[in-house]
Amino acid sequence: MPKAFFVDTSRCTACRGCQVACKEWKELPPNNTKQWGSHQNPPDLNAYNFKLVRFSEHLIDNVVRWYFFPDQCRHCLTPPCQATATDADAIIQDEATGAVIFTEKTKNEDFEAIRESCPYNIPRKDEKTGRIVKCDMCIDRVQAGMLPMCVKSCAMGAMHFGERDDILKKAEARLVQVKKEFPKAQLVDGDYVSVVFLVMDDPALYHDHAIACGPNQLTRQQWLAQLSRPLKAILQGRV
Ligand code: SF4
Ligand code: SF4
Ligand code: SF4
Repeated sequence: MPKAFFVDTSRCTACRGCQVACKEWKELPPNNTKQWGSHQNPPDLNAYNFKLVRFSEHLIDNVVRWYFFPDQCRHCLTPPCQATATDADAIIQDEATGAVIFTEKTKNEDFEAIRESCPYNIPRKDEKTGRIVKCDMCIDRVQAGMLPMCVKSCAMGAMHFGERDDILKKAEARLVQVKKEFPKAQLVDGDYVSVVFLVMDDPALYHDHAIACGPNQLTRQQWLAQLSRPLKAILQGRV
């Protein structure tokens, strides 16, 4: 049965426990950092940060609001990145969990094409190994019956993981509660992805790529065009 995450940003305190736990489990090296005027650190996802807690600050009705967004691969149900890869073994989707996994064969793929195909701007290139990298749903832990490390580390109850149907029900129920205080609260792209975010306001206020069809992002039509590529290939007898 496919798995899913529910990330409840209304409970996130931006402690970055998930970000650090991800690096530890994946044994990813540190990044050289410097003060750049934000608590968001490092400034962006990179080959050594598959999880990044994004910070944004807004003045809304004369109240300063901090919005936190623990960003990661959404494990799309029909992944545009996979449709873009030229080698079927470069990007695979685990049937049991729905995890989208970048293999060593991503070394031979066009990084820019893979990155541009992603509606959430997730893939990054590891310049040392040549591989394209991102979150793999902690597939080793999940297959061993454990929670993904980021979920395990979240003490605030912002991150949840489990069977997709159960997780979607949990997300819908929480949305009803949060909407009482924040009428603009919404679940982001839940029909398309396995990592469902609850945001309290317009997703664009959290991050340009929080939602697949934001102003600087692929439009929904472009995304659907990406999704239809494998079907076209079958119809044209190329696979
Ligand atoms: Fe937010 Fe939980 Fe991550 Fe802390 S561990 S930043 S509360 S999601
Ligand atoms: Fe691929 Fe991007 Fe979807 Fe992750 S979020 S599965 S990298 S298209
Ligand atoms: Fe990192 Fe694992 Fe969480 Fe993905 S599921 S962000 S690899 S800790």
